[in-house]
Amino acid sequence: MQLLDGKLVAAQIKLEIKATVDELIASGKRAPHSVAVIVGSNPASQTYVASKARNSEAVGIRSTVMELPETTSEEALLELIHQLNNDDSVDGFIVQLPLPSHINESKIIFAIQPEKDVDGFHPVNIGKMVLGDDSAFIPATPMGIVELLKRYHIQTKGLNAVIVGRSNIVGTPIGILLSRNAPFGNCTVTIAHSATTNLKELCCSADILVAAIGRKNFITADMVKPGAIIIDVGINRENNKIYGDVDFDNVAPIASYITPVPGGVGLMTIVSLLQNTLKSYLLKHT
Ligand code: NAP
Repeated sequence: MQLLDGKLVAAQIKLEIKATVDELIASGKRAPHSVAVIVGSNPASQTYVASKARNSEAVGIRSTVMELPETTSEEALLELIHQLNNDDSVDGFIVQLPLPSHINESKIIFAIQPEKDVDGFHPVNIGKMVLGDDSAFIPATPMGIVELLKRYHIQTKGLNAVIVGRSNIVGTPIGILLSRNAPFGNCTVTIAHSATTNLKELCCSADILVAAIGRKNFITADMVKPGAIIIDVGINRENNKIYGDVDFDNVAPIASYITPVPGGVGLMTIVSLLQNTLKSYLLKHT
């Protein structure tokens, strides 16, 4: 079994981003600039946004965090998005989800200018991803997973990939990426969800198993084909510890590759967002 070490790969990618940003600055250009908007005080969102800001600054990307109160109206948030869309000093921005229930998330995502949508959630970017258009911003978590496969030179062509979970931010886009006719794609993909009836059987047929469910240790060793590649997206907090969706201790010995939690997909997600910010800057400036 080999660990797919997100910490190691993310550190390498950060060095690469920093080298590019240093060159830009040395040539007299301004640093890329990203903004994160957070509404309310969801602790998981605050941790995530703080980590994004820290990692941005570490590679020379300017980062602004805008914290708005829980009571912010949809109208006020839309007005802020309008301003960020029109602010030339901002290359990309995200509106951290989930939003308070009085704000319509789809309406907010639709309002973001696709060229600044570094989360890759706008329908234009989703559409471009489906069509294989290179200018698309790919959602950070699936983008990070594909990058991890790439950095470990894992040949995915012809493999059966089973994805458990069909969210718009993880399950569905990783299904699209793994099935497309591209390097680190070309898998035969099955997407499972809560209405799937033969989950264990499906999982046992997987050469690549992606777990994006949100339930601690949901994938057990008897659901894994020996030699499978296991990608654990889950982040489940319990007693100040983080657990994945995969029962790591029992699954790791039979897997060929596996991502740890923490230290796997989560760090790749953050670094993908940095890559998207740099991409938005470069698309505008070159
Ligand atoms: P989500 O929107 O809650 O989606 C969960 C998916 O799991 C749904 O499609 C759901 O099916 C499916 N599911 C739930 N119970 C199931 C069952 N018993 N059998 C089969 N499928 C089942 O979650 P998400 O946003 O995709 O996130 C998933 C996990 O990844 C969470 O732990 C989250 O914290 C984590 N996450 C991690 C990162 C990272 O950077 N590592 C990024 C994003 C999310 P239905 O559609 O039928 O309800």
